[in-house]
Amino acid sequence: MSIFCLDFMKLNELNIEQATKGLREGDFTSVELTQACLDRISERNSEINAFITVTDKLALEEAGRADEMIKAGNVMPLTGVPFCVKDAICVEGVRSTGGAKILDNYIAPYDATVISKIRKQGAVLLGKTNCDAFGHGASNENSMYGPVRNPHNLKKVAGGSSGGSAAAVADHQCIFSIAEDTGGSIRQPAAFCGIAGIRPSYGRNSRYGIMPMASSFDTVGPMAKSVEDLALLMEVMAGHDVNDATTVPEDVGSYMDDVGKDIKGLRVGIPREYFELEGLDVEVKKIIEDKINILKNKGCEIIEVSLPHTKYAVPTYYILVPSEDSSNLGRLDAIRYGVQTEGLSLFDVYAKSRAVGFPEEVKRRIMVGTYALSAGYYEAYYKKAQKVRTKIIEDFDKVFENVDVLVTPTSPFPAFEIGEKSDDLLAMYLADIFVSPASVAGIPGLSVSAGNTKEGLPVGLQIIGPRLGEGVVLQVGNNIS
Ligand code: GLN
Repeated sequence: MSIFCLDFMKLNELNIEQATKGLREGDFTSVELTQACLDRISERNSEINAFITVTDKLALEEAGRADEMIKAGNVMPLTGVPFCVKDAICVEGVRSTGGAKILDNYIAPYDATVISKIRKQGAVLLGKTNCDAFGHGASNENSMYGPVRNPHNLKKVAGGSSGGSAAAVADHQCIFSIAEDTGGSIRQPAAFCGIAGIRPSYGRNSRYGIMPMASSFDTVGPMAKSVEDLALLMEVMAGHDVNDATTVPEDVGSYMDDVGKDIKGLRVGIPREYFELEGLDVEVKKIIEDKINILKNKGCEIIEVSLPHTKYAVPTYYILVPSEDSSNLGRLDAIRYGVQTEGLSLFDVYAKSRAVGFPEEVKRRIMVGTYALSAGYYEAYYKKAQKVRTKIIEDFDKVFENVDVLVTPTSPFPAFEIGEKSDDLLAMYLADIFVSPASVAGIPGLSVSAGNTKEGLPVGLQIIGPRLGEGVVLQVGNNIS
């Protein structure tokens, strides 16, 4: 983008690449850029509700320090760039509620590894973003801090569970955001809000300091205004961490180089099951098919493939994830930290604190998970779901012998109305139908904006890659968005 164009953009509307350029060239300071984001937040937060906590004072201090760094020539890719963090991710000294009242007063004592890597570069923290409590949801309506409204249409949901992060990026209340994706929580809200977001492979980015939801599914990734920005952020965030034994030792890719590469000759798989789904919105289907044609015109080989166990991904996910959830949430007993409710006995304190501190969906997951793990039902549910998980992984392994990436819609439909699905649990769970398979398999998925419906709602296109295939996923994403 030329500086001529930048003249017509407000500072908060810039992406990372543009912001960094302007900061380095002295067109504006980080304090000015940060103030522009803070102004936008205060103008819009009462309506959109993207932020649970705004760290305005801290942000301006950090921006001042970043300006000093820039003046001293100590500039890294994110120096002075304002960002926000999903509230289920710990940031030292900052309230981190995870979207649940049981942690309403919780001040995280340390930075999550990915956050410390970003902050070490001198990026500026604007605050913590709203989310479904502990990541449980597909609409951000399970937050105890109220739903997030979609900036494209305030009657619609922003998606979930990282709805606050997605809306903050789309509404230019920040330059980028860091969020968590267990079963679609980065990709689906990115799709609903018309931005880019990547769920990396399981183990690529450290989970240390992320409030655990389902430990064998959880990933942390960036949400941004462009695929290049995601590539840059992935280079900063990824890598082995001694504090997370599940991080992989493989070298981090050169994602910035990958996004610049041509896609001619790449083999793009189109999984039949995703396009034959009853309930796939016709407009969504058309927009995605048009994009597939663009890939074809750019020299990609388009290959129809089958992932026969796709239909089992949502049921498998909703057995295994609540099982892990029920175990992970056991730590929230309001004794060592969190909001404690008075009780007559220790058990009473636990029960009352959890009764008022968790929303319905969190309680539901604890019950489902406890049931699935109980001695009588373990074989019938948990163990069976683990076996199906292997089948789903094998489906992907098999297709990736013949294709480089898979292209699908991110969601079968665009953003729905606030309240539309909140009483219909099954409909809400089925919203994950296209995002849960990659989560179950632990492989990367990127959502990029593919266009808008006639009603003006964004439609997301998902690119799924093989394990540690973030590079090729970003490469295709950059060529199609
Ligand atoms: N819709 C998914 C769920 O409710 C999203 C989870 C996530 O990615 N945090 O489990």
